Amino acid sequence: MTQLQSLRGMVDLLPGQTQRWQAVESMARSHFRRSGCLEIRTPLLEVTELFARGIGEATDVVGKEMYSFQDRGERSCTLRPEGTASVVRAALQHGLLAQGGQRLWYAGPMFRYERPQAGRQRQFHQIGVEWLGVASPVSDAEVIALAWDLLADCGVEGLALELNSLGTPADRKAYRTTLVNWLDARREHLDADSQQRLNTNPLRILDSKIPETQSLLQDAPMLEQSLCDESRERHQAVIEALDALAIPYQLNPRLVRGLDYYGHTAFEITSDQLGAQATVCGGGRYDGLVEQLGGGPTPAIGWALGMERLLLVLAAAAEANPSGRASRLVQPAAPDVYVVNRGDAATHQALVLCRRLRGFGLVVERDESGSAFGKQFKRADRSGAAFALVLGDEEAARGVVRLKALQAASGAETAFPQADWSLNDLDALVAQLRKG
Ligand code: ATP
Ligand code: MG
Repeated sequence: MTQLQSLRGMVDLLPGQTQRWQAVESMARSHFRRSGCLEIRTPLLEVTELFARGIGEATDVVGKEMYSFQDRGERSCTLRPEGTASVVRAALQHGLLAQGGQRLWYAGPMFRYERPQAGRQRQFHQIGVEWLGVASPVSDAEVIALAWDLLADCGVEGLALELNSLGTPADRKAYRTTLVNWLDARREHLDADSQQRLNTNPLRILDSKIPETQSLLQDAPMLEQSLCDESRERHQAVIEALDALAIPYQLNPRLVRGLDYYGHTAFEITSDQLGAQATVCGGGRYDGLVEQLGGGPTPAIGWALGMERLLLVLAAAAEANPSGRASRLVQPAAPDVYVVNRGDAATHQALVLCRRLRGFGLVVERDESGSAFGKQFKRADRSGAAFALVLGDEEAARGVVRLKALQAASGAETAFPQADWSLNDLDALVAQLRKG
């Protein structure tokens, strides 16, 4: 029988990797808690119209990347390609915005039918925040700082923040006319996709990944020139707040995001470790989206980071600096104690002891090979535990368990009487293990 495989671009996360993922996720949760962000979980499947209306018909995501199908009730459904539209839909559906500003975060799988390559999958994972009902330029800097500090705390290196302003809808309309006039005169130099977009969504051309198109765009008029005074002032205020936070940035007047709902602040955090898929985190302000999805006027800003890409950058940082922060984060945690045990009576005693110690919150690994002590001790060393507890025929007969320091050169040993366990008094042993 042929071995069944996962679908192309759909990737299994094996135990060695899930430990790293959990470390990043718990780092993110800690940052969110400290910033007053609360978690929201929305369904993976939504009505197709949500994304068509939210993200924009002429984007790559809606135009050619969505997993859409008719369900048995003949509704058009789509596996979510991103989180923002769903979060806004849920906030509106449940009246969250009536309760004032919302600082929300989410994490989970997203689906886009793209060509799989390193850092680009069909099922990938994002962690993101959406701050709804939040208007001030200072909040733009605060939400960027949240992403920046999270990535820095994970220990990723070689990061750069790129910043742009996409202005108001009126600014973009004015720019659109300028850009279309300029590009129309050079139409024959554009790739076929971009030619099409001249009529549907010309700003998307700036986001083209085709090198020839990008080099043509070098001389194109910039959106910056079409910004009104208020947009400029707002952008300046964001910059000043970033300066106050001492977060470095590069102004990139060519930065547009892949989704249509962005205005004013747009940003990406890129890494020099990722090759073609350089963007780890992307986001910006989307003041029009809530209204577009049927709510009242509501300013909002958010970002999403790609977990797969973050893990790639982390692995690179860990390799470059084995004693650095990234390395510590991605290293699997060692157990508190490794239990070496052999012989029927001793094994039962070990079983009881393990359970009791786990009850104290200790991480306990019991060797279940039954092999010779020498082999078990080798595994104990490899586990990284600070201590081994040893229970063999001899210990069982004497009614003790031996505690042995593993990583210390001295290999100091203490014997603890087993009588203490039944007296519900493991305190001395637990205190020793916690010191490790
Ligand atoms: P790109 O330009 O690389 O396609 P994007 O602009 O489409 O990215 P967003 O929609 O802003 O990306 O998503 C935010 C982040 O999610 C990206 O910066 C990236 O880290 C990650 N991401 C997006 N698409 C994928 C994918 N197919 N596989 C893995 N990660 C992805
Ligand atoms: Mg994309």
